[in-house]
Amino acid sequence: MNDPALAGLPEAILLDEIIPARAEWDHTVHAGETLRIIDLEGNQAVDFLMYGLHDDTERYSAQDTIAAQKNIFLRTGTVLISSEGNPMAQISGTSVAYHDTIGGACSCESNTLRYGHHTKAQHACVENFLMSSARHGRGKRDIVSNINWFMNVPVEADGTLGIVDGISAPGLYVDLKARMDLVAVISNCPQINNPCNGFNPTPVRVVIAGYART
Ligand SMILES: [Zn+2]
Repeated sequence: MNDPALAGLPEAILLDEIIPARAEWDHTVHAGETLRIIDLEGNQAVDFLMYGLHDDTERYSAQDTIAAQKNIFLRTGTVLISSEGNPMAQISGTSVAYHDTIGGACSCESNTLRYGHHTKAQHACVENFLMSSARHGRGKRDIVSNINWFMNVPVEADGTLGIVDGISAPGLYVDLKARMDLVAVISNCPQINNPCNGFNPTPVRVVIAGYART
């Protein structure tokens, strides 16, 4: 294992893929396996959802995760909680100070509201989530509040939210260790109207590592 980007992962690399700029992706991650997401070029928001593999009515819950850890930011050690109150995964390591779970996912509708009608035809994260979800029989009502890996959404003392320049950089990563069998869904955010992707969406790398299954 000479690739420094794989340092610290379990021996068996079960998957190693590039998600192109603006693209969607989903994959099963079994309990005990680690999903590493690498921000290859820096400042690339990675919108993220998780569903239980065996019962997808159990899914990631931003509000339960925030309530459980009494903090709005996701950092090393954060346990990501499901809608049933169960641990779905834990952030076993990250080289970014914190990640967001309150900024939501961009959509054609929110783009037109924020940035004008000329953005109506621009591809957005909700469309990516719908494409991935359709493969599993899920629709728009199954899209819940998501995680934004590598996205910087500071909250000021008076509660004001911002979507500002990222604090990520080329090669930084986040590791998620699954605590249950789950399906991870990614929208590699296509947004070009605010700085969440540095106005230039770029590819990310995903690696799933664990112990060889027989
Ligand atoms: Zn987006």
